[in-house]
Amino acid sequence: MDVCDLIDTCPFFLQEMTYLPATQNLMMKNYCRGAYSACARYMVYLVLGVDGVPSDLYPNEHKKAQEIVSGS
Ligand code: SF4
Repeated sequence: MDVCDLIDTCPFFLQEMTYLPATQNLMMKNYCRGAYSACARYMVYLVLGVDGVPSDLYPNEHKKAQEIVSGS
């Protein structure tokens, strides 16, 4: 099983960010312990580093992630 590099520090995985519990668990399974390279937070991290990832960005917010990365 693939596990995200950021799993020990990510506020989404540590549940400092809240979402509907069932949805959050599903996203953790699909992204954090699965296809983490497709996570919006991870995508921003790759380009801008950990400090560039907004605290309120959710793993499924790909459009927002692209805007952040492109600076718009
Ligand atoms: S939310 Fe994204 S960046 Fe955070 S641990 Fe999960 S896959 Fe990694």
